[in-house]
Amino acid sequence: MDIQYNVKKVMERVAEAAHKANRSPESVTIVAVTKTVDVGRIMEAINAGICHIGENRVQEFVKKHEFIPVDVKRHLIGTLQTNKVKYIIDKVDLIHSLDRLSLAKELDKRAAAVNRVVPVLIQVNVSKEATKSGIYEEEVESFIEQLEPFEHIRVKGLMTIAPLSEDAESVRPYFARLKELFEKIKEGKYNHIDMEYLSMGMTNDFEVAIEEGANIVRIGRAIFGER
Ligand SMILES: *Cc1c(COP(=O)(O)O)cnc(C)c1O
Repeated sequence: MDIQYNVKKVMERVAEAAHKANRSPESVTIVAVTKTVDVGRIMEAINAGICHIGENRVQEFVKKHEFIPVDVKRHLIGTLQTNKVKYIIDKVDLIHSLDRLSLAKELDKRAAAVNRVVPVLIQVNVSKEATKSGIYEEEVESFIEQLEPFEHIRVKGLMTIAPLSEDAESVRPYFARLKELFEKIKEGKYNHIDMEYLSMGMTNDFEVAIEEGANIVRIGRAIFGER
């Protein structure tokens, strides 16, 4: 498994999808998803030009943290249990999975304790699959309003996971809907949030996600191979 080659290929595919959407390749951040991947292989990806990594489990995040260069940005992309917030609060650069008020409350409390404002994305369950976490589209705005008192978290955008499908085209409508919601919220001009990031697209569907407006893609298997 040639990780350096894979990173180069992914970068080329991201650039091509960005061009297709009349955007610059630099406008899309590639988060290399490193779950189940050991530090040696993560370093290969970093040496090939990866600057952002994403873990979906706190335990793995914490275990690898000290071995990853400090200038590499750390993303927490998986469902976050409230009782694990304390382990990552001073280490994480962006949390993609804010999906409930109790988590916001804990994040705010723990971030205040370490004197920082933690950047988060709201996870949206666009497809409403029962197995997925995330706020439903129509509830996102009222959720945002409820976050106003929490001064130690800053909403920076939205994230979604599309339904698993062999055919990337079939998930295009979900990405388009999240982009639409993203723009609507942006126009809502809430003072306590910044709509900067739209995190959508994985190995199976990242090109379609970029065409529909994603500026963060989360890619595991196309870089590290099958898990
Ligand atoms: C595993 C995972 C990814 C990456 O999936 P691949 O299909 O390996 O690209 C992206 N986002 C989340 C939330 C994940 O858990």
